[in-house]
Amino acid sequence: MARLSIAGRRILADVPSRIAVLAGVGWMVCYALLTMLSADNPSRAMFVGDVLYLLPITAGAVASAVAARRLTGRHRALWRLLAIAYGAQLAGELVYTGYDYLTPSGPPDPSFADVCYLTASVVTVVAILVGFGGAGRLRHLRGLLDTLLLIVSAGAMGWQILIRPQLSEGMALSNVFTVAYPLLDIVLICCLGIVGIGGHRQLPLSVRLVGYAGGLNAISDMLYTYQLVFSNYASGSWVDVAFEASATCSFVAAVVAIRFREPVAQRRTFDRGFTVLPVLTATLASFTLVIVERVTTGTTSVLTLVIAGVLCLAMLTRQYLFAADRASLAGELRQAVREQQRLAVTDGLTGLHNRRFLTERMAAEGGSGPDDHRVSLLVIDLDHFKTVNDTYGHPVGDVVLRESAARIAAACRANDVVARYGGEEFVVFCPDADESEARALAERIRESITRTPIVSGGTRILVSASIGVATGPAGAVESLMSAADQALYQAKTAGRDRVAVALAG
Ligand code: GH3
Ligand code: MG
Ligand code: MG
Repeated sequence: MARLSIAGRRILADVPSRIAVLAGVGWMVCYALLTMLSADNPSRAMFVGDVLYLLPITAGAVASAVAARRLTGRHRALWRLLAIAYGAQLAGELVYTGYDYLTPSGPPDPSFADVCYLTASVVTVVAILVGFGGAGRLRHLRGLLDTLLLIVSAGAMGWQILIRPQLSEGMALSNVFTVAYPLLDIVLICCLGIVGIGGHRQLPLSVRLVGYAGGLNAISDMLYTYQLVFSNYASGSWVDVAFEASATCSFVAAVVAIRFREPVAQRRTFDRGFTVLPVLTATLASFTLVIVERVTTGTTSVLTLVIAGVLCLAMLTRQYLFAADRASLAGELRQAVREQQRLAVTDGLTGLHNRRFLTERMAAEGGSGPDDHRVSLLVIDLDHFKTVNDTYGHPVGDVVLRESAARIAAACRANDVVARYGGEEFVVFCPDADESEARALAERIRESITRTPIVSGGTRILVSASIGVATGPAGAVESLMSAADQALYQAKTAGRDRVAVALAG
């Protein structure tokens, strides 16, 4: 809600968007009033329902075509498809209006307008799959299965309970359309819920508005079908107000898309795809179908058993996909945790271990093994490093640090723990090196740093290092550290570029 109000305020701060919203709201109020006032006057009702009705649909189709031209990437794909859908919708409305005005009996049932409406519905579903996109293959599959569950359930129940009892002489073409509308609406709502709104976070406002418009249109369609079946629909009915609200919402969505270049939606790791609804509907449908048929005919037909079987299979597959999706997410999370753990003990610049890791390892070594176990510590400090920074700049200083770190690591053995202690200071902890081995290692490191100049962008930089070495009991790492530090200080004062060993402690 807070997000919506922030987005709402952003829209109202933009003049063209503000005009679009105010015009939309104003138009809806006028349209509802006109519909109410024309209820007793068929010719006026027809004018409101057929001609005035076209206004926001035309505006929506034009604005989406503009959005499709101006936007790029996934937004362009979405708005191209929506421009086609809204264009088809407009064509359907024009055909319907033409029939209403030019033929005495009004539009036939079905008419070419129905073909346009159905095209619009199908393209809108594709738009949501493509435009909202990015929800992942598993989730798209699950979305389609959920859709299948709802369609087969609703279609079978609607057929068995509502339509079949009314059919005496077979299936008329108009019945196909009557069934197709609500079924396509279910598809649309499913795709919106699972792939669209449920599968993403930070859904752009324009895309959210497209979703609301699609949802409103689907609900209006269902009301229309209900009116068509149980009473008599004519242009200018209150159902048109609901359709009109959907068209107005699409128009505002297109204006927002044009005005605000929003980033594309991001996939939600744990989607909110409705998990209960399809399964519940399918279970209820299976039972209802069998029971209704038993009560009305006394038997269970093969068709009913097949439908129940299909529902059962689809439910099982869907649950499998759900589990697979969660398993792949768990894998991604484990990987992310491992990476976080690695980063927590790694120095960002050099890739060596950091001070935290070193301290933990030294403490662990001190707490284990026999009391007389001796360890060695090398404290390495680059000489006159400040001058390197001052002469060549900080970025070149970083290159020198990275290369020195690599040379130190290359000179060490597998068991040694090499860490950047801070700044231009490195520490090597040798859990199994006596004093002479540690001294030899320190010499190797010093030589590897001094021998070859470090090259950065054509500049050859001569670097040297001073190293303090201390060897002592594993349980006294703190005093070992200060001994190595003191040895390092001696190396510095004695002229740098050398190794100094602390007196045996
Ligand atoms: P000495 O021979 O006595 O060790 O002299 P020094 O110049 O090396 O010593 P000092 O401690 O005065 O300078 C260390 C310099 O290291 C100062 C600081 O700017 C630099 N430094 C510390 N961390 C980084 C880093 O991450 N990148 C770069 N480029 N420089 C760093
Ligand atoms: Mg230093
Ligand atoms: Mg230094």
